[in-house]
Amino acid sequence: MSARKAALVTGSTSGIGLAVATAFAKAGMDVTLNGLGDAAEIERIRSGLEREAGVSVRYDGANLMKADACAGMVENAIAAHGRLDVLVNNAGIQFVSPIEDFPVEKYDAIIALNLSAVFHTIRAAMRSMKAQRYGRIINIASAHAHVASPFKSAYVAAKHGVLGITKTVALEGATFNVRCNAISPGYVLTSLVENQIPDTMKARGLTREQVINDVLLAAQPTKEFVKVEDVAGAALFLISPAADQINGAALNMDGGWTAQ
Ligand code: NAD
Repeated sequence: MSARKAALVTGSTSGIGLAVATAFAKAGMDVTLNGLGDAAEIERIRSGLEREAGVSVRYDGANLMKADACAGMVENAIAAHGRLDVLVNNAGIQFVSPIEDFPVEKYDAIIALNLSAVFHTIRAAMRSMKAQRYGRIINIASAHAHVASPFKSAYVAAKHGVLGITKTVALEGATFNVRCNAISPGYVLTSLVENQIPDTMKARGLTREQVINDVLLAAQPTKEFVKVEDVAGAALFLISPAADQINGAALNMDGGWTAQ
């Protein structure tokens, strides 16, 4: 057990989660990684970060579609690092379809991971955070927590729900020095977005550049992707003392998308 603060970042084997976990480790926190992927590649990431940052970095491969797995992952993180100070709910998936054709199992999967897992991990972490009178919970929401796009019914429903639980937990933790906030990024060029490009090219008969500029970034006034490092910087801010009175908020990082 170390005297360092300890963080758990879900879905941190790639994209935004990996950037957040990397920033936390480099800031001197013990970190639990979680997510799916190739075992050898994940071990390369884990050991590399541990070596580079000089902190304890562990990996838990829990499949967060299941309530028990969410709770078990939190319990194991607390046991391994002796405490849990920061929980970032970041794991998420996307599926795009008109609602009348939307596969029910895809809807269920998106709600399970993008929304219900947020409930299950916080439920498992809250008692310990309240007892130690310190906790910082960050939920990675989306511009789609504030506005909708067609064909994303499950994702938009889940992300709107994430804001609801963020506000509720903020109230429950308020007098225990437990804070709960959301970060709402616009488009970030991770695998989650990259995977949508070929299908959209085919469906609309567009080039890659047209999909990026005329479809993805159409709503983003800066016409630039948000960078994973931007989200990591916002997460570092939300766990800093300067953010002690930020509670139940959603920090929009969408180049102005939701200002329209
Ligand atoms: P990503 O695909 O790079 O990362 C998703 C992570 O979730 C990966 O580590 C993956 O292994 C993990 N994951 C997937 N299924 C899982 C499961 N069943 N159990 C545990 N982990 C699982 O995508 P990303 O863009 O970095 O997305 C991270 C979060 O950011 C998501 O919640 C997403 O909705 C949100 N977000 C992304 C964007 C964007 O444009 N990329 C914009 C707004 C919000």
